[in-house]
Amino acid sequence: AKAMGKGQYHVFDPTLHQKALKRLTLETALRKAIEHQEFLVHYQPIINLQTGKISGFEALVRWQHPQKGLVSPGEFIPICEETGLINDIGYWVFQQACNQLKIWQQTLKNDRLKISINLSVRQFSQMNLMEKVAETVTKTKISPQSLTMEITESALIDNPTHARTLLHEIRDQDIHISLDDFGTGYSSLSYLHTLPIDILKIDRSFINPLSQEESDLGLIPPIIQIGQTLKMKVVAEGIETPEQLEILRKLQCDFGQGYWFAKPLNIREATALLQSNPQW
Ligand code: C2E
Ligand code: CA
Ligand code: CA
Ligand code: CA
Repeated sequence: AKAMGKGQYHVFDPTLHQKALKRLTLETALRKAIEHQEFLVHYQPIINLQTGKISGFEALVRWQHPQKGLVSPGEFIPICEETGLINDIGYWVFQQACNQLKIWQQTLKNDRLKISINLSVRQFSQMNLMEKVAETVTKTKISPQSLTMEITESALIDNPTHARTLLHEIRDQDIHISLDDFGTGYSSLSYLHTLPIDILKIDRSFINPLSQEESDLGLIPPIIQIGQTLKMKVVAEGIETPEQLEILRKLQCDFGQGYWFAKPLNIREATALLQSNPQW
């Protein structure tokens, strides 16, 4: 603390100052990025574990920074959420994903292919979000049932009243709802079954420790059981090894996603994968 005279003290923390500066720089860069359309969407396949076929893709945003190259969402989504930029970016991702889904469904002559899109907490407060979603669905002429909105368990817990309203608005449009990062947010089971949720997505942290058939399965069997009891589908994320896949398949987990199948892919790579692994 540096004395400022007259008994006043000013705490100067250089690291704090640098952090604030870095944040501001990032925020400015993000606003420019929206203007210059520097975002793109990658697609990670979601596999039906019983058939081994591609059920659909999860849309994951990336920032193609002119100097830094591809920036991962973990580095910029939190700031987009705090500043409200997520509203523009989130809706843009939704539109891109819908357009791409339409293209795939048409070229592959398969309208069963699905797309999942992440919806962040902050987008909950965007009042006309569902109107815009409905507009895009109508314009692209995709079936709303081929869309899934992924909402994190923690988002539900942080805004229970708001979340309930939004979830019902999504459901009213026949769009599916997936509870993302399930198991990390401590939602109460009695609450869970009163919400219109179609899919539970088991967080990667539960899948990661799985190594061999004999290994401790942890909370995975009860989570799958909860899903089945509540008539929800269960997706395991972060499958990285064939051992993990085998365990999850034996446990009757419905869908899986992870580097073992594929990393998030650009449009060209995802299209090639679809052509080599038809969805039925
Ligand atoms: P998430 O929704 O839980 O997405 C899964 C993340 O796990 C993705 O990271 C994906 O690349 C990564 N992943 C997939 N398989 C594996 C695996 O086998 N091993 C490991 N270690 N990781 C795997 P990514 O793309 O960096 O996205 C991070 C998070 O950013 C997402 O987590 C999601 O919360 C957020 N995000 C991404 N795109 C969007 C978006 O368009 N809107 C919003 N609101 N959030 C987004
Ligand atoms: Ca997700
Ligand atoms: Ca997740
Ligand atoms: Ca996550």
